[in-house]
Amino acid sequence: MSLSVGFVGLGNMGAPMARNLVKAGFEVAVFDLVPALMASVEGARAAASAVDCARGVDVFVTMLPAGRHVEGLYLGDDGVLANARPGTLLVDCSTIDPGTARKVASAATERGFTMLDAPVSGGVGGAQAGTLTFIVGGTSAGLERARPLLSAMGRNIFHAGENGAGQIAKVCNNMLLAILMTGTAEALALGVRNGLDPAALSAVMQQSSGGNWALNVYNPWPGVMAEAPASRGYSGGFMVDLMLKDLGLALETAEQSGGSTPMGSLARNLYRLHQQNNAAGKLDFSSIQTFYRPELKD
Ligand code: NAD
Repeated sequence: MSLSVGFVGLGNMGAPMARNLVKAGFEVAVFDLVPALMASVEGARAAASAVDCARGVDVFVTMLPAGRHVEGLYLGDDGVLANARPGTLLVDCSTIDPGTARKVASAATERGFTMLDAPVSGGVGGAQAGTLTFIVGGTSAGLERARPLLSAMGRNIFHAGENGAGQIAKVCNNMLLAILMTGTAEALALGVRNGLDPAALSAVMQQSSGGNWALNVYNPWPGVMAEAPASRGYSGGFMVDLMLKDLGLALETAEQSGGSTPMGSLARNLYRLHQQNNAAGKLDFSSIQTFYRPELKD
């Protein structure tokens, strides 16, 4: 018998993820505050509310913007924890602060639910293709229950540790990605200023000790990689606004744990200036290249 799934949050990521669940044969109910988004998941039942969507299903999945949305949906007398069927597996795929993830999971555990934080990496393209990476926090038993479902939406599934660990691993990764991208943009700008061809310089550094994911597969200089966002006016991809959100979560996590992240902090400040001074919030995060070479904006 196929599992029934409730799915709330049908934005850029959630709608294609829910479509992949329908495609894989799960019985899916969906809900979003924007009714038109529910119609976009063909083959799913449109629920009347988030709580209605959570009632009577085997697994309940959320893909919401931020921690306050997750907390608001799960906690309180009108929330999912107070109204879902006992035994429902709860999976939050949103990227949120680890503190809120732990708080909601601990309230879920108190009520006898198993809850996982399962933020994703792979972007909208990965959500559409069903090739997301899930970074899971929670029990191994919970992860095994979720595995068939996660496998229908993604390709790689990592168990990072207990509740909140998925969110911590996700913010560490994205902080490193921002640092790598700003460093790559800086090195390319320096080389070009001194007469080098950006493609030739990229080829050298890719095979040398400076090689990294931003340089090797997501090159920020326009024209170096035809398929990268840099070569289509920095459209599509992973928005500066979202990178700033994740850098904020990384710095918050550092603050709460007494850690120090000077490079993450610098990357966040560079991205904030870029967002505000270049109206770059909706551009791909590799557009930080234009912060170093403003003429590339045109
Ligand atoms: P989005 O803003 O496109 O979608 C969020 C959806 O949640 C919206 O449709 C909104 O109407 C809905 N929503 C908000 N509150 C709700 C509520 N109380 N009840 C029902 N629906 C509600 O965001 P997205 O790009 O899909 O991202 C979702 C999450 O995934 C975020 O945490 C983001 O950081 C993370 N993420 C995004 C990407 C990406 O490339 N877009 C990549 C990895 C992770």
